[in-house]
Order: sequence, then structure tokens, then C-alpha cells
Amino acid sequence: MSSQRSSYYENIEVDMMKVVIIGGGPGGYVAAIRAAQKGADVTLIEKKHIGGTCLNVGCIPTKVLLHTAELYHTLKGDAEQLGILVGTLGFDWSKIQARKKAIVQQLSGGVKSLLAANGVNVIMGEAAFLSVNQLAVHYPSGQNETIDFDQAIIATGSKPFMAPIKGNELEGVMTSDAALSLERIPKTLLIIGGGVIGSEFASIYSSLGTKVTIVEALPNIVANMDQELTDYLKYELEKAAVSIYTNTKVEHIERTLSGLKVQVFTESGLSSFEVEKVLLAVGRKPATKALNLEKAGIRVNGDKIVTNNHFQTNIPNIYAIGDCRGEVQLAHVASAEGMAAVEFIMGSRSNIDFNTIPYCVYTKPELAAVGLTEEKAKEQGYKVRIGRFPLHANGKSLIMGETNGVVKFVVDAKTDEILGLHLAGPRATELIVEGALALRLEATVAEIVTTIHAHPTVGESLYEAAHAVHKQAIHLPN
Ligand code: FAD
Ligand code: NAD
Repeated sequence: MSSQRSSYYENIEVDMMKVVIIGGGPGGYVAAIRAAQKGADVTLIEKKHIGGTCLNVGCIPTKVLLHTAELYHTLKGDAEQLGILVGTLGFDWSKIQARKKAIVQQLSGGVKSLLAANGVNVIMGEAAFLSVNQLAVHYPSGQNETIDFDQAIIATGSKPFMAPIKGNELEGVMTSDAALSLERIPKTLLIIGGGVIGSEFASIYSSLGTKVTIVEALPNIVANMDQELTDYLKYELEKAAVSIYTNTKVEHIERTLSGLKVQVFTESGLSSFEVEKVLLAVGRKPATKALNLEKAGIRVNGDKIVTNNHFQTNIPNIYAIGDCRGEVQLAHVASAEGMAAVEFIMGSRSNIDFNTIPYCVYTKPELAAVGLTEEKAKEQGYKVRIGRFPLHANGKSLIMGETNGVVKFVVDAKTDEILGLHLAGPRATELIVEGALALRLEATVAEIVTTIHAHPTVGESLYEAAHAVHKQAIHLPN
């Protein structure tokens, strides 16, 4: 790690290398800025909107809606208890939508300015390969242009996976793109897929009054996270009248006079739901079909572009980063991969530590995790110690009226090294970085408990959970 530290800001002279980046999402635009900072001649080609999925129809707009919906829900449920007099509480969906749009526009304008400030040549058009050093760009006007490159980085992202469910083409069946911009709040919504998109949309619409049903094929929602965390989420969603059917598969969807009928196989047999809207949230697949990858001989696995640890494809001067690799589909990972690919092109040996990526779900309670779960650590042969601290014993959580949550450290019993941190509760998505840093620095419990955490903060519960590993929490009977 120390060699990476010392070489990180070294600039290697590049002889105006021509780098072309396809896709202007958080993978592509970050790579473009980085390559320009390093002295390359950079062209970024984007077919739709700068900022990609994340900024336009992903991370940012969902979090705007989640923020407002949660605030509304809290005021509706807890205003009196907090001593706030709100009179008649309501919301204006068109204003919420307008605010969402304004925030997206402001951020994408910011990205455009940054690209310009760094001298990146931005082309609005659709790119496809002609060979290992040429691309064709198709402009909305119908015109085409050929572009030469020394190095190319593919950052074309992903699109919603349209599961082959009979009826998925019916009006009223939508993906997250449409669910972000509905004209009005639906009375009823069935969500197919209780993953991260399903759970975040369930949180948004149930908070605003929609009767939401989640249908999930696996035994649990957000199944890649520690079940202890998802139990807190399930509790909160069910409190908001969300019906959750796990181990349940959709048979088909059909149109009725009043809306849509969804036939499902639950654990106890066939069942059906009549709803106004259906959200299909069963994963996303790489957007690579239109790239003519075969013209450059780029290796794929299905729709996924195959790369090595430096994000280099089998064609040495062509790289792929972010969602189009079909691995970890997160904005911060796409950006990190973009940075790493550029560093490698410029002669550094930078790569990514995939074991220290934070995973966050922005529901109420927020969920966040980094590193190994207790289960995974045991599978890998570790003897583990767990340090747990419930948020009902944390002052700040009590002040916020959000005590439904927990902090859980997973620790190697032999060395006391932190293997994982798992959080459910307020500010979890902000606090997880402490765990990511702890893992990066190979920290032990001693290093967490000798770091003074400010009072009163939710973060103190991390300090207490670390103490709890050795049954020495102060604010908990051990
Ligand atoms: P994208 O952001 O998808 O960008 C790819 C770009 O390439 C697009 O703009 C596309 O138009 C362009 N493109 C495609 N083909 C071509 C072509 N042939 N020529 C030119 N341009 C092309 N992740 C998080 O980390 N946190 C979150 O909170 C979060 N929330 C999400 C919520 C939703 C509803 C969704 C759908 C996703 C969310 N994600 C979140 C995932 C995140 O959006 C993606 O992981 C991230 O956007 C991937 O970045 P990318 O640069 O690889 O691709
Ligand atoms: P996901 O993989 O998180 O969840 C999809 C869920 O659908 C899974 O639980 C799966 O078991 C279930 N499923 C699949 N087929 C089904 C079927 N036929 N019937 C019922 N259930 C079925 O995918 P997603 O929620 O669509 O999200 C896509 C990607 O976007 C994720 O990989 C995630 O990384 C990213 N994303 C991240 C955030 C965030 O970081 N907060 C938010 C939204 C999206």
C-alpha cells in the first residue's frame, strides 16, 4: 500500500495521447476529467445526457424523492411527538418533481462546466466501434463521423433488465426510469424485485400514501446484505403498510378494466394482486449491444465486457469500466474504476480494493455495509467476534427519534482486525466510510476504540460497538 501512497500524485508525461471515452456517467466523466488532468487529449462521447444513469435517472433523483418522502412521513407520524404543530399536512407532487428536475439540472450543468474547464472535448452522439482504433459517431441530426483514438474507455453503463415475464410490455408496467417521473402518486403499486431499487421505491411511494406490495423471489429483501440489517428495514416498511412476499415469483401480468392483475406463486400457492402500477426492479444489464464490440474483437461474457484487474479488455488499448462490466453496479465504483483505468493507461499501477467498497441503501432506516458479513467471514474460515450496539442506547438516535437500528462489527478473533462493518439506522450511509477506512488501513478494534468520537453523534455507536467486541461497551450492560 505504501508504494501506491507515494506514487498516487506522480504525473507521468504523456505525449498528447488521444483518449476517447464512451459514456458520460460517473464512470466516464470522472475518467475524462482524470485523463485530462494527466495531460491527455480527451474526447467524451455521450448519446443522451451527461451524468449518465446516476445523475439523471438513478442515484440523484431517487435520493431527492426519498429525502422529501421521508421528511413528509416523519412529520406525518412524529410531528406531534417532536412538538411541531403542522396543521394540515400535505404535499405537492408537481413541486417535488420540479425540485428533483432542478437538482438534476444543476448537477449536470456542474459536470458539463467541469468537463469544459478541464479541456475535455464533449460530443453528443452515439458511438460504435469500427476497429481497434476507430469509432463511428452517429449524431442525432443523422450525420456520422469517424474518430481515431490511441486509447478508448468504454463506460456505457447499464439499463433495466426486462425479465421475461408475460405481460411486462403492458401499459402501467414500468422500470425505475418511469417510476421517477410519474404524473401522480398511484393508489397501489406492486414492485417485482425486493433488491435495492425495489426497497428504495417502496420507501418513497409508501411514505407518500401508496399501498405498496413487494414480490421477491429470494427468501429475503436486499438479500446481499446481513439479514440482521434487512430485518430493521422490513420492520419499518411493514409499519408503513408495505406487504412483502418473499420466496415469491411472478407468473404473469394481465390488463383488467381498472388496472393490472399480477398473478404470483407465493410459498402458500397461487395468488393475485390487482394494482394500478407495476415496477419491474429485477436488476440491470450492461448496455453494450449497440457498440459493435465484435468489430474491435472485444471479448464479452453475455452482455458484460470482460476485463482484467486494470479494466483492460483483451484488446490492450481498450478499457471498460462501471456498469457495462456487469460486476458491481454502483456509481462510486464506476468512478473508482474510471480513475484506476486512467492511472493504468498513464503508466501507474493503480487498481481497486473491491473488499472495501461501501454498499448503501437509502431507505428508512438507511442500511450500509463494508467488508465481510458474519456469515461470509465464517465461510472464509475466520473465527469471528461480533461487536453489536443497538441504536436505542445511543443519545443522538434518541434525539432524532430514530432508534430502529444497530451497529455491528465483524472482527477476526485471532488478530482483532476489523473484517466488516454493518449499519442500520440514521446517517448509516455517511458513517460507513469509517468502516471503509478501517478496512483500508487494516485497523484493529483497538484503533477504533482509541479514536475519540464526538458526542452526541450516531457515530458514537460505532465506538461502543467496537468496545462491545470485547464486552466492554460503556453504555450497554455487557
Ligand atoms: P451510466 O451512469 O449508466 O452512464 C453510461 C452513459 O453512457 C449513459 O449516459 C448512456 O447514455 C451512455 N451511452 C451508452 N451507450 C452509448 C453509446 N453507444 N455512445 C455514447 N454514449 C453511450 N448507485 C450508487 O452508487 N448509489 C445510488 O444511490 C444509486 N442509486 C440508483 C438508483 C437507480 C434508480 C438506478 C437505476 C441506479 C442507481 N445506482 C446507484 C447505480 C448507478 O446509477 C450506476 O452504477 C452508475 O450510474 C454507473 O455508472 P456508469 O458510468 O458505469 O454508467
Ligand atoms: P438488485 O439485484 O439489487 O435486486 C433485484 C432483485 O430482484 C433481487 O433481489 C432478485 O432476487 C429479484 N428478482 C429477480 N427476478 C425476480 C422475479 N422474476 N420475481 C421476483 N423477484 C425477482 O437489482 P435492482 O434493485 O434492480 O438494482 C440494480 C442495480 O442498481 C443494483 O445492482 C444496484 O447496485 C444499483 N442500485 C444501487 C442503489 C444504491 O446504491 N443505493 C440504488 C439503486 C440501484
